[in-house]
This record gives sequence, C-alpha cells and structure tokens, in this order.
Amino acid sequence: MILTAKRLITGDGETVLQNSGLLLRDGRIAAVDTLSCLQNAYPEEEVLDYGEATILPGLIDMHAHLAYWQAREDGKDFDPYLTACLALHNAKTALQRGVTTLRDVYSDDGLCRQIVRAGEKGLATVPRLIYCNRALCITGGIDWQITGGTVQVDGEWECRKAVRRELRTGATWIKVMTSNRTPGVAEFTQQELDAIVDECHRLGQRAAAHASLQPALQMCIDAGFDTIEHGTELTLAQVEQMCQRGIAWTPTIFVHRFVLDRLARRTGRRDEVGLSGRDLQTYHLYHRSLRCYADNFLRFAETGVTLLAGTDLVFADSPFAAVSEELRCMVDLGLSPLRAIAAATGNCARVLGMQGEIGTLAAGAQADLLVVDGDAAAEIGALEQVRAVYQAGRSLPLPLV
Ligand SMILES: [Zn+2]
Repeated sequence: MILTAKRLITGDGETVLQNSGLLLRDGRIAAVDTLSCLQNAYPEEEVLDYGEATILPGLIDMHAHLAYWQAREDGKDFDPYLTACLALHNAKTALQRGVTTLRDVYSDDGLCRQIVRAGEKGLATVPRLIYCNRALCITGGIDWQITGGTVQVDGEWECRKAVRRELRTGATWIKVMTSNRTPGVAEFTQQELDAIVDECHRLGQRAAAHASLQPALQMCIDAGFDTIEHGTELTLAQVEQMCQRGIAWTPTIFVHRFVLDRLARRTGRRDEVGLSGRDLQTYHLYHRSLRCYADNFLRFAETGVTLLAGTDLVFADSPFAAVSEELRCMVDLGLSPLRAIAAATGNCARVLGMQGEIGTLAAGAQADLLVVDGDAAAEIGALEQVRAVYQAGRSLPLPLV
C-alpha cells in the first residue's frame, strides 16, 4: 500500500514533503519518496490518496496517567477491575486523537504491564505504552496519598531498591516526585536524587522528575534526570544547563489552562473575586504558572532545549491525551506549528531512545501514522480533524468501539 496526501510532515521540526508518499510493508514504512518514484518502483501497489490532508507520525504523549481514578469524585468506586476499564477507555480515547504512543508517568502498581499484555494478546487495541509503574516520593511527600500510584522511599538504599523494584515490572522509566506547592522546599535530598538517577542509568533505563519550583529544579538538573516534568519556574540559566546535559523539558502548559478555565466556568469570572480556601490557592498557583510560561516559554525554546508534549490531564472532565491542545498552547506562545509537532513526535522518539522507530516518517520506522484534514504545518488546529489513525500499518476503524 502507498499512502499519499498533499503534504507529509516528517516530525523533525522543519520538513514538509509535497507530492510524496509512503510505502507501507509489514507494519512499517518501507520507503518514503515522491509519489511518481514510488509508483514507478512499485507499479502493483494500491495507492490511497488522502487529497488535501496532512500525513504525520502518530503523536506521542510524554506525560500521561492512564487511569488516574484518584482525581475523580467517584474515586472510591475504583477497584483494580474498574481501574483497568478506565485505562482501556483512556487508551481508546488517545488512539482516536492520533496518539499512538504514551509515556505513563505513574499509574497503579502493575496496571501498565497488564494493559501492554492486553494489547499483545489481542484483547484490546491500545497505544504503545512506555511506563514507570509507580512514582517515588519521600514519606509524606507530594502525592504520597495517591494510593497505589506512588511509593514512599527515604534514604539512598531505599531509593536504589525502589528503582530496582519498579523496573522489575517492565518499567523503562523511573519517575520521581520532588517539589510541592511550598516554594523553597525540595523533598528528596540531593543524595537521594543522585542515587535514584545513578541506579536507574546504571541499569540502562531513564528517569523523569516532577519538579516545578526551586530549589528542586536545580537539584534535579544536578542529579542528571533525563526529563524535567512541568519545570514551571525554570530560569534561563537552568534551561541552558539542561541543553548542555541533554535534559529534555515537558512543560505541560495546557493542563494549567484547563484548571483555570474550569475554575472560571464554575465561578463565572476569570479573577480571584469570590474565591477562598483551596480554590483561591489553586487560582494563585496556576495563574502564576501560566505567567511563567507566557514570559519564558519561547525564549527557553530558543535555547534549543528539547521540548516534549505532555498532557497530564487526569480529571474526570478533562480530555484525555489531548496532545493537540498542548501543541496549540506552544503555538500560542510563539512556537511554529512544525516545531510544536516535533515536540510530540521526533523529539519524544529521541528522548525515549526510539529514534528512527517512532515519531518519524522514514524508511524502517513503525507505520504509526496520523492523517488529518487541512494543513497542520500552517494551522495547528488541523490536528483535531482526525481522518485516520494507523497503528503498525493498520488503519484503525474509527470511532473505536
Ligand atoms: Zn503528572
């Protein structure tokens, strides 16, 4: 089969191919060339022409929680069975949005492994799942009460042991939670962070840090994490250090917007008037975060730091894996649509150690593809006009049931 459309976005942040096509064979992209060359070389192949559409690599969500029942008001109903149902529901939603790979940055113990198995056994259609299993936090640290999803560890050897235990579940990432809502307070000590990253890297895997505030951000950079999640209050000097050390950044901008919009819908106003308690705290925190992104995102992007699209949409009323919304935020803050798309394709593949395998339209890559109506290189909103999603060369029957 040869697929073609008006334009192909390769995922490297700059290339748009015109009059070109993809030859699909055995679930992979066997060749990328001009349509006329492909038709000459493979005259027997059927050609599927999507016309005015854009073909791009399947999107990658670098910050997802596949079944975050803990943020739901009906959370008490969720036992492992219902949690698995929620995971499958979210997996389906992600695929329908063209998200063919998810990095789950913590879910309940053992859940991701079983969802991967369900996919392998043909029991469910699920995106490619890369996961950390549970996240590590200190005793009483951020998210310690997220029963099932986090594990409390203290001291160097408990940290190293926890890394080994989480990797035993098939995890290829380790996730650490280390900055709370209290500015100026880091949770893990430097020694603990260093031990976690050292143990994780020593065993050949990668580590992600949830860090929004100082001094946790500098401590995570010093420890050498592979990705910083949120990084809301990063400084330019720190982003430059991240470039030098090859540390990527998942800013998760949209979720901040989502929470504030929801608050505004509830109160009918966009300021703090009438807010109190937890609502007022949330307003200040998220408002301040959005201010940071507005002031800094573009100049940080210009340093060349590797940007990653992550959604972190964990609420019952939030759209799961809405990567297109995160990319829209990046474009709103001044990034070009092609560079934003790279943050959900080529950049992610590099950080995941899967360069050439996913996140690209190149010969040899998995044929995980998204076809959208319109010109996604000019108008990022086109990513919401999903026309077809391919997983390993197979066009999924949309909508998935
Ligand atoms: Zn998260």
